Parts: sequence; structure tokens; C-alpha cells
Amino acid sequence: MQSKFLYKYPKTLLNKGTGFLSGYSHSLNPYTGCSFGCSYCYVRQMPVSKFRKEEWGTWVDIKKGAADILHKDLTRAKKKGKVTIFMSSSTDPYQPIEQKEEITRTLLEVMVENKPDFLFVQTRSPLVRRDIDLFLLLKDKVRVSMTVETDREDIRKHFTPSAPPISGRLKTLQILAEAGVPIQATIAPVLPSSEEFPEKLATLVNRVCVDDYFMGDGSGGKRTNSLGISSIYEELGLEEWYSPSAYRIVYERLKKVFGDDHILLSQQGFLP
Ligand code: SF4
Repeated sequence: MQSKFLYKYPKTLLNKGTGFLSGYSHSLNPYTGCSFGCSYCYVRQMPVSKFRKEEWGTWVDIKKGAADILHKDLTRAKKKGKVTIFMSSSTDPYQPIEQKEEITRTLLEVMVENKPDFLFVQTRSPLVRRDIDLFLLLKDKVRVSMTVETDREDIRKHFTPSAPPISGRLKTLQILAEAGVPIQATIAPVLPSSEEFPEKLATLVNRVCVDDYFMGDGSGGKRTNSLGISSIYEELGLEEWYSPSAYRIVYERLKKVFGDDHILLSQQGFLP
């Protein structure tokens, strides 16, 4: 899907961590909009998307001058107390356009110079590996969380056709781990996966987060339901994977490979 890009000049960048992210002092979105346009993305139901005419996934606003603004926001926030940042809550910080624009990279450079107490980086893009040098400078003040909702590429193509292939994400986890960057694999939302999925992850990570629509969309699954996602499960004949207890299929499989302490559920897996 081709995205339309606009340059925007925001006045602030750090937003207060609220709701699902109340464990964080702030959230940080280098972009507004997201080219990946995942079918289940509930951001499309939020004001940021609802007031746009274009379909979610077809537009991205690029926040120009972001580094200078973050520098100011960060300095101000640090005077008030502990600063823990979740990047990003309503976009992917490693959008395809990030390759050219480097907004996220410049934000990381600011955070290397003026370190927050903690930075959580949530992405599904192999482009994240470009910034390993900066993550290493943040040492234990950073964790990179890679979304891997399933190990089945056929399933990924049904739900998120414009998102990066699963193989590239798994390879990226391996590269980050070998470099010594703190990481986790995030199975969120849980999509139908194979029985071998836990073994595949176990060779790459020792920390896995599991989340689903019902625990993680901030409305007990109502937001996701209104997107009509259930029809994709019906088309695939995989209705048993669309229920509040379906995450247990993956959770129980993971437990056979990972210790309990290494599997985090929903909000717990995203805490600083
Ligand atoms: S990558 Fe994240 S923000 Fe972007 S469309 Fe998918 S779920 Fe939404």
C-alpha cells in the first residue's frame, strides 16, 4: 500500500503515559500514522485517525525538527522526576520512511546525550537493527521489543500484508541479541501460530510477552471487534483463535520451553 507523506512541525513530542502505558511517564511517537496499516490496529479507531479522510495505513505525518523538540521536552521532564519513555504507542518508529527521514534515529541520538531513566522501543521492523550503535550506548536503559504475532508467514500476510515478513523480524532479534541489546519477542496480538513457534523463539530470546485483543486493546476487545477482525478468522476457518482464552494455546506451548518467569502477560510485558 502506497502512503502519502506530509511534513508536520509539532510543538511538543513527549506525551503523558496514560491507560495501558500508565507505567511510563511518557510516550513518544516520531510519526503520526503508520504505513504498515495492520488490519487489527485499533489506532484507526482513535481521534488521530478518525478525523482524517484517508484510510489508516495510507498516510504518515513526519515530525520535522523532532530532535530539538525532544531535547527541550526531555530536559523539562527530567527536572520534574523520573522519565520513562514508551516509543511508540500509535505508530511504528521504524516505518519504511524512517530509512530516509531518520526521525527516530535523531531522537535516539538526543536520548543518548540526555538519557531517560528507561526507553522501551516497540517495533515490527528489521530497520531497528540500523540503530544498534545507539542502543548499546543506552546500555541497560533500553529494551527493544519486536512484535512477532505468529511464526506463520501465511497468517501474517492475511492480517498484516504491508508489514515486514516474520523471517526478517526473527533474524533481527538474533542480530540484536548477538550485539548485546536487551530485547524481547512480543506475541501481540496473538495470531494463529505453529506448535514449533516457542522453540523458534527460544533460540533467540529469553523474554517473551504475550498479549491479545481482549487484554490489550484497552476496551476488553470491543475496539477490535468493531474493526470486523473476526471475519478474517472465519475466512481462514480459525475461529477458535479469536476468543479471550485463545492466548492460552500459545501460553501453554511457551511454558513447555520457557520458564514462567520469562513469559510476561499483557501490560506486564511492556512495563519499564
Ligand atoms: S505497526 Fe503498530 S501502529 Fe502500525 S498499523 Fe500495525 S499495529 Fe498499528
